[in-house]
Amino acid sequence: MTVLVHTRADLAAELDRAPGEIAVVMTMGALHEGHRQLMRVARERSAFVVVTIFVNPLQFGPGEDFEKYPRTLDDDLAACTAEGVAVVFAPGRDDVYPGGAPSVTMNPGGLGEILEGASRPGHFSGMLTVVQKLLMLTRADVAYFGEKDFQQLALIRRMARDLELPVEIRGVPTVREKDGLALSSRNRYLSPDQRRAALALSRALREGAAQADAESVLAVAHKILAEEPGVRVDYLALTGPDLGDAPAEGVARLLVAAKVGSTRLIDNVPVQLAPGQLASVQPRKGA
Ligand code: AMP
Repeated sequence: MTVLVHTRADLAAELDRAPGEIAVVMTMGALHEGHRQLMRVARERSAFVVVTIFVNPLQFGPGEDFEKYPRTLDDDLAACTAEGVAVVFAPGRDDVYPGGAPSVTMNPGGLGEILEGASRPGHFSGMLTVVQKLLMLTRADVAYFGEKDFQQLALIRRMARDLELPVEIRGVPTVREKDGLALSSRNRYLSPDQRRAALALSRALREGAAQADAESVLAVAHKILAEEPGVRVDYLALTGPDLGDAPAEGVARLLVAAKVGSTRLIDNVPVQLAPGQLASVQPRKGA
């Protein structure tokens, strides 16, 4: 039986009953198969899984979709029950931020200024602040985050390491629709035509990642995105696995952000750059 709690006091009472390790999956609700995969992976290891559902105002900028972000608590609770989740913590704004917005917040550092951080000032500070608060409130021993939000995952790992947080951070590969579209709560904003256009993101990443060298990866991905008039690219970047400069060979990451209509979508895939051939080609930073 999944227990739904809204206040930190009720959450604490449930956590007192945890038989062992506490695993946490943090979400903003409007749960889909991607979220459910995080719950499944968490349940494989831990008997006691807590899912948090909180649309965090701190990580939305002016003009972003905080107000219209989908809120579907009944369906979300059913999904959590089906996945064997012990507790759903769905706090109100005042339960997370009693006394208003916090004065002391997280500073994501340089890694928070590139890519998403360049387009969404303040986003990662707001995100890390709520993640740290929720890690404390849920007493998480292990917390699961999706690779779908690759920079977010990298920053949370970095925060845990840099600040000695006593929690294990685990990443889970992106869940996609059959046609490649990465699942996202924001996909429901897309009209049928926009959804078709949005497929260019995953196609560009997939076909780009099939190339052997950095230059071709970016060229192929750029071309596919440029051919889709419904997509306005914010960035397409080839980086290292830690979001630093791309290596000449070996494991890299290809990331994209774009607007389709007024909906901003992000996606990313791993890339294996082949040794040899074009080792002298330096990938264009942020290109
Ligand atoms: P959100 O509700 O969008 O804040 O996402 C909550 C968690 O689910 C984050 O760790 C996301 O990275 C993860 N997530 C969202 N979409 C997917 C997906 N398609 N596949 C895997 N994880 C996802």
